Amino acid sequence: MKKVKYPLSWSKDNFSIKIFCSIPNIATGILVKASDALFIVDPGDGILRDLNKELKPDQILKVSDIFVTHGHHDHVGGVWSLLTYLRVMNKITPLTIHFPKGCIEIVHIYNAFIKVYGADLPYKIKLNEIKNSKPFSTNKVKVIAFPVIHKEYIFDKKTTRQIPSLGFKFTYEKKNICYGGDTAYCSELVKQAKGADLAIIEAGHEEDIPDGIHMTIKEAKSIGETAKEYFLVHVPQK
Ligand SMILES: [Zn+2]
Ligand SMILES: [Zn+2]
Repeated sequence: MKKVKYPLSWSKDNFSIKIFCSIPNIATGILVKASDALFIVDPGDGILRDLNKELKPDQILKVSDIFVTHGHHDHVGGVWSLLTYLRVMNKITPLTIHFPKGCIEIVHIYNAFIKVYGADLPYKIKLNEIKNSKPFSTNKVKVIAFPVIHKEYIFDKKTTRQIPSLGFKFTYEKKNICYGGDTAYCSELVKQAKGADLAIIEAGHEEDIPDGIHMTIKEAKSIGETAKEYFLVHVPQK
């Protein structure tokens, strides 16, 4: 497939999404706007640079929620700098980090951050460790977090293990965006993407034979095409 050109943007009424970047093993970075509400999804490396191109610093301080699909570095690499930036710029409103249960990367980044800056932090950080698919709302946006199938290699480079991984479906004023995160072909994503106003589907596996970690272009397209519109992301860039 051809190189995906970032950013990718989509908007309907007061609901929009901008994907600054989504390159496997490098970085992801996504901004969701629902009227005045601002969310960041998968803040990989470079998120501060991209946010500062898009928003004024006082707007960045209004970000209320961070959504993390899983703990791989290309999805969480910017969390530390984002939390620190918000401290330096004197954010006062609370921030919630939503992440899958068992995602130790977020727990450890948070614990280290609190250890370093906890005594001198102008804003409150809430952790929402997601344990099930029960929908919840934040800033008038309904969120469904659904489990997906995503693995990583252990040190021997041959054996894989499933890691805590989610996709998110955001609904605002009857429009919805389904973001699958990193996933192999999975029935839960098939269900959530169907009929969505926008589906963002990863196609991170280059070969035609599925590897259980990422989807092939063919698999990703077959899911994307069931939505009203779709983007293929996380395609290896060569
Ligand atoms: Zn990834
Ligand atoms: Zn991953």
